Amino acid sequence: MTTTVTVTRMVTLASRPAKEPGPENFALTTTELPELGDGQLLVQNIFMSVDPAMRGRMETTEKQYTTNFVVGAPLDGSAIGVVLQSKDPAIEVGAHVRHRFGWREHAVVDSVGAAVVDPSRAPLQDWLGILGQTGFTAYAGLIRAGELTAGDTVFVSAAAGAVGSAVGQFARKLGADRVIGSAGGKEKASLLVDDLGFDAGIDYRNDLPKGLAEAAPDGIDLYFDNVGGGHLVAALGALRERGRVALCGMISDLCDRDASPPIGHLIQATLKRLTIRGFIVRDHEDLRTEFEDRVSGWLRDGSITSRTTVTSGLDNAPDAFLSMLSGGNVGKALVQISDENG
Ligand code: NDP
Repeated sequence: MTTTVTVTRMVTLASRPAKEPGPENFALTTTELPELGDGQLLVQNIFMSVDPAMRGRMETTEKQYTTNFVVGAPLDGSAIGVVLQSKDPAIEVGAHVRHRFGWREHAVVDSVGAAVVDPSRAPLQDWLGILGQTGFTAYAGLIRAGELTAGDTVFVSAAAGAVGSAVGQFARKLGADRVIGSAGGKEKASLLVDDLGFDAGIDYRNDLPKGLAEAAPDGIDLYFDNVGGGHLVAALGALRERGRVALCGMISDLCDRDASPPIGHLIQATLKRLTIRGFIVRDHEDLRTEFEDRVSGWLRDGSITSRTTVTSGLDNAPDAFLSMLSGGNVGKALVQISDENG
């Protein structure tokens, strides 16, 4: 049986932020859905992701790896939903698919841009988090950009967030000897040790760089950088000779560009013969199957854990996004748009 839906509610970009984004930059509209063409699916979204990269996409500055949002047009981003109608014989009504049209209740999706996920293998939330793009970012970043080596001392910033909480746990599974994380506030720093198996948690608002020197008196081998700014400077100071940096993202620069430290700190890279490598997760799709097999196995045997912060309702999606930017989340920040069965 197919379900007929002709209109959907979606979040659009009302205006670009002058400085910090706020609720006034978003609007909720109702729009007609197009007729389904061959190879297309009508999907009822269940969960959608809010990501730091969306902050950059609200601006006009050109990004090399994605497109910017357009004023008056709907936002987009990762989502998972249930197929209500299918014009692709390979994808059945009732299947769960991950796709790129979040920020709306229903979406017409080209099946070539949708991946079927199996909720019997892991909960839907995990397919957008630890088994989705943020978990995959952690995995590819550690292996490819960071060249994680058995016995490494690893430091990761934004460690209580989606990518960071996966980095800390995966690093341990992949042979790191000591795993140190930083997060905003004492509570999050303790959670890293108590719930996520880190050896040390640093409250970066009060305890950086001193806390890093104390947690790693002999230095670190690998820094997984989610933050940039003062974190990167602290890590450059703590890295051992021939250490490595995986440059994943610079959320501190997104939020407060004027506070960026001078580039002169990079002289540490020369003096210590460091390797600093940036990466974009989508260049590493060849690792996807290996990643899903290993991480779903670790989740099943209980050796890692998945954390999410879920906000209810499309109307609250802008708040969920703004809250994530200021650290309101632990683990993957998601918005639940409809119930698990769609
Ligand atoms: P998170 O779940 O980590 O959420 C963002 C976190 O950033 C917040 O929870 C907050 O935690 C922290 N934060 C905010 N402002 C600051 C600041 N000024 N200094 C330090 N920490 C801050 O997001 P994701 O896991 O989705 O993303 C983490 C990073 O990974 C981002 O930089 C993102 O752009 C990047 N990324 C890169 C990809 C790639 O292919 N290279 C792909 C996906 C993500 P706290 O409370 O600790 O401050």
